[in-house]
Amino acid sequence: MNFQAITERFKNMMQQKTTRPSTASQPPESFAFYHQIRQLSQEPWTYEDPELQDVAMSILPLEKLFEDATKREKDGNGSWGYQDYLIQSLLSWFKQEFFSWVNSPKCESCQSDTHLIGACRPNTEESFQGCNNVEVYQCNGCSRQQRFPRYNKVRPLLFSRTGRCGEWACCFTFLCRALGSRARWVWNAEDHVWTEVYSFKQNRWVHVDSCEESFDQPLIYEQGWGKKMSYCIGFSIDSVRDVSSRYIRDPENGNPRNRCPEIVIEHTIKSLNEEFRSALSEYDRSKLLDEDRREKEELISYRTREDLSSSALPARQTGSEDWKRERGEGGN
Ligand SMILES: [Zn+2]
Repeated sequence: MNFQAITERFKNMMQQKTTRPSTASQPPESFAFYHQIRQLSQEPWTYEDPELQDVAMSILPLEKLFEDATKREKDGNGSWGYQDYLIQSLLSWFKQEFFSWVNSPKCESCQSDTHLIGACRPNTEESFQGCNNVEVYQCNGCSRQQRFPRYNKVRPLLFSRTGRCGEWACCFTFLCRALGSRARWVWNAEDHVWTEVYSFKQNRWVHVDSCEESFDQPLIYEQGWGKKMSYCIGFSIDSVRDVSSRYIRDPENGNPRNRCPEIVIEHTIKSLNEEFRSALSEYDRSKLLDEDRREKEELISYRTREDLSSSALPARQTGSEDWKRERGEGGN
């Protein structure tokens, strides 16, 4: 073996030493959660399609949104910037006018209520549009069966404009990107998803939930809905982060974090950030590292603060009472 090959081998060994968790007894790849996080991290990349962003621009009522944001900025106290107000305007339009919530779909033939009877595989057209699962309902009036395809891709959602949290968060996060904001799609292990938008005025990631028209209310789940949570992970194309402590202030009363050792999560997220940022300039990478440090400090600070539990937070608005109870989101 020549000198160059030995050097190469040594560099590889050192690389493995520094990038692989050293105290976990098993390799990260042996945990299902490692693969799940990596798979989830692909979601924000689907929002980067320029053709799809053009479609968004043709759908968004831009003039109305910009006018509304200008008004909000004029009425505001200066703590938020125009970009934040634009997201607030988008949030309000999205919830009030654009998207609708579906508990169970109305019967297409007689408009009566329906009830869930099962699920089936998507047909060719539905599969092509990115549907993985079709819920089947039966009409309470005429007994007709009705399909409700669940889409988790932006394109069909821009036209169906309907669904539950998954559809709402996917479409809304994409629209934030289309309007030029940095946006994270936040995944929660207890079956909820929402958005975070980076505020350039406040230099931080801000919680936004389109289903609830909620802006910067990260405690809405734990304290408003009474939801028990374990993991919340935010994914953008340049910043993946375990943001659990922004949303779970009382981990003792949350669900256990037992999907893998913590070091495996840290390693997985670190390697995703390295991959996602590899094509950026040195300057952009160092700016993101600064942002990482600030966010880390912010997230640690929540572990030592007790100042946020007194503010009254709303109970969940979307979903039927039974559905909310089943999900442990029926309030405290
Ligand atoms: Zn019917």
